Amino acid sequence: MAEKTCVYCHKPLKLKEAGYPMGSALLKADRVHVDIYECPECERIELFAAESDLVTCPKCGSTHSKKEKCAVCAMNAAIDEATGK
Ligand SMILES: [Zn+2]
Ligand SMILES: [Zn+2]
Repeated sequence: MAEKTCVYCHKPLKLKEAGYPMGSALLKADRVHVDIYECPECERIELFAAESDLVTCPKCGSTHSKKEKCAVCAMNAAIDEATGK
């Protein structure tokens, strides 16, 4: 992982939140995860595509943070339950 620095003050950015889920679960596969970095100097927030803590779901193949359950599978299970399958 290359070190991330603030484009303004060139200070190393601090990782604030890894694998943060962006977007609605309704977007399913379009859901992206980001690593949120903060500059300790100017408090500028930078978002990067998550490169840590991601796992690929063996069931549906979508990627999600290992800190959370697979949203696609959770949604599919809810739909199956609602339709009585
Ligand atoms: Zn800065
Ligand atoms: Zn899944």
